[in-house]
Amino acid sequence: MSCFKGKYHDELIANAAYIGTPGKGILAADESTGTIGKRLSSINVENVETNRRALRELLFCTPGALQYLSGVILFEETLYQKTASGKPFVDVLKEGGVLPGIKVDKGTVELAGTNGETTTQGLDGLAQRCQQYYAAGARFAKWRAVLKIGPTEPSQLAINENANGLARYAIICQENGLVPIVEPEILVDGPHDIQRCADVTERVLAAVYKALNDHHVLLEGTLLKPNMVTPGSDAKKVSPQVIAEHTVRALQRTVPAAVPAIVFLSGGQSEEQATLNLNAMNQLKGKKPWSLSFSFGRALQQSTLKAWAGKEENVQKARAAFLTRCKANSEATLGTYKGDAAQGEGVSESLHVKDYKY
Ligand code: 13P
Repeated sequence: MSCFKGKYHDELIANAAYIGTPGKGILAADESTGTIGKRLSSINVENVETNRRALRELLFCTPGALQYLSGVILFEETLYQKTASGKPFVDVLKEGGVLPGIKVDKGTVELAGTNGETTTQGLDGLAQRCQQYYAAGARFAKWRAVLKIGPTEPSQLAINENANGLARYAIICQENGLVPIVEPEILVDGPHDIQRCADVTERVLAAVYKALNDHHVLLEGTLLKPNMVTPGSDAKKVSPQVIAEHTVRALQRTVPAAVPAIVFLSGGQSEEQATLNLNAMNQLKGKKPWSLSFSFGRALQQSTLKAWAGKEENVQKARAAFLTRCKANSEATLGTYKGDAAQGEGVSESLHVKDYKY
C-alpha cells in the first residue's frame, strides 16, 4: 500500500504548508506542568494553574506577535484555557491566523540495558485523544523522541525504537486530522565535535524517514522538528555559518523534498544564537526544497519570562521582549535578520539544561 489517502488528506497538506509559510514559525508553549514549574520557579512564581494561564495569556495576547507565528504548541491544560476576560485561547490564536497544536507524547522512559537511552510513551489511546484535540480546535501535534550522543550512543536499538515510535504516532495523527510534527531531538550534551553531530543526525533522520515510509505516512502532511547540527555543549563553539552548512547538508542528505517545512528546536541555545543560526541557514545558497523555520520553546520565551517575573506591572515590558524575539525569528526565516535584537536582557544567555526533559 502506498501512503495515507484518508479523510483528512487535503487538509493535512494545506495545514502543513500553511505552518511552513516563510516569515512565520511556531512558538512551543507546550511545557508539561513539571517543566513549566521549573521555568516559573526561576522567577520565583508558584506553579499553579492561574500563573501558568497568566504566562500563556501574556504570550498569546502580545499585540503584533501572532503575525510572525503560524502555529503555537499547547499542553493539554492550555488547550482548554481562556483569557482573563473569558475568550478561549484557541479562538485568540485562530483569529490571529495561528493554528493551535498539541503535545501528545507522555514523556520518556529508559530503554533497559542501555546507557540511559530512552523511548517515548503515549501511543495507547492516542487516536481517541487526537479526536478530542481535533474537536477542541487543534490542527497539529508534537511528539518528542530523544536521542543522545555518547561513545556508543545512539545505539541501533534507540534509533529503531524511536523511529518506529515517531512513525506510529505520525500515522495515528494523520488518520485523525492532526499534522504530526516529527521530533527526533539529538541532545547537545557532550564533548563531541560538529562532524559527529552531523553523522548522528544523518543516521537518525535516515532511519526516521524509512520508518515514516514503512508506515505509509503522507510526508506532505508532516513537519520535521530536528536539532540544529552543532558541536556538543562541552566542545568549542563554531560560527553560525559553519552550523548552517553542516545542518543544511545533513538535511539535504536525508529529508525528502515532499516535506514542506523543517522547524528547528532551540535545544538550549541562547535566544540570539538560535536566531543567528536560523538566519545563516536561510542565507546559505544551495538546494533547500523545504522552508527552514523555528519551533522554539526556551529561545522564544526566556527574556520574556525574565522581564515578566510574575508581576502584573511588568507585562508590557515582557510583551515587548516577546515581540522582539518573534520579529527577529520571522526575519531569520527569510535570511534578513540584521542582529538588531541582540541587546535585550538575557538574550545571549545559554539555556542549556543537561539531559533536558520537556
Ligand atoms: P526548545 O526550543 O526549548 O528546545 O524546545 C522546543 C520543544 O518543543 C522541544 O520539544
